[in-house]
Amino acid sequence: MKDTYRHQGLRQQLVEVVRAKGIEDEKVLKAIGKVPRHLFMDSGFLDHAYQDKAFPIAADQTISQPYTVAFQTELLEVKPGDKILEIGTGSGYQTAILCELGCRVFSIERQNELFKKTSKFLPKLGYRAKKLIFGDGYIGLKEEAPFKGIIVTAGAPFVPKALLAQLEIGGRLVIPVGDNVQTMTLFIRKGPKDFEKHEFGDFRFVPLLEDKN
Ligand code: SAH
Repeated sequence: MKDTYRHQGLRQQLVEVVRAKGIEDEKVLKAIGKVPRHLFMDSGFLDHAYQDKAFPIAADQTISQPYTVAFQTELLEVKPGDKILEIGTGSGYQTAILCELGCRVFSIERQNELFKKTSKFLPKLGYRAKKLIFGDGYIGLKEEAPFKGIIVTAGAPFVPKALLAQLEIGGRLVIPVGDNVQTMTLFIRKGPKDFEKHEFGDFRFVPLLEDKN
């Protein structure tokens, strides 16, 4: 598991690409510049690791495009110490970005293979999520609610009610909503039954699946 000057150089170029696409939050850009994305992908894909592209990982899933990770993270507006729930741990790259930003991260993954792999891998890099969970993101994590932020990293055909219910007042849910193409959507909880909704254009994610296998 090596992170060389070459990797670091490529990563700084990636930061500039993501910045040029419109990401302004310096803390988010700094996190993209720190997390060694090449180590989250199978070896042999170094040439792809620092391109701004999604890429296949195990179990037919993908590591999200860095721009998309940055965009969602920027919308979450996190501060150190914030309690954040992630749905779709996958490679753990987004989890690592949130750890880098000082968040207390809970993350749920429904594919056992990925759950096991990422649970072993993240601590090796020094990224300690509060808890990684093998389970169904549609139901969230009631026992740890409320959350300051919830980030869904798979395309949701609809907005799961449980996730809105598990936000604290003032909390933010960032979720791509749609079937083939998803609209990036932000909900801000203004009161017990009061949610503000904002939409931010189209993205493409692997689907948020309903049944556990
Ligand atoms: N955040 C990841 C993105 C992985 S792709 C990364 O940075 O690499 C989306 C992930 O969501 C996949 O790993 C997929 O298995 C997972 N997923 C799909 N449906 C889910 C569900 N209902 N609950 C939890 N995870 C789910």
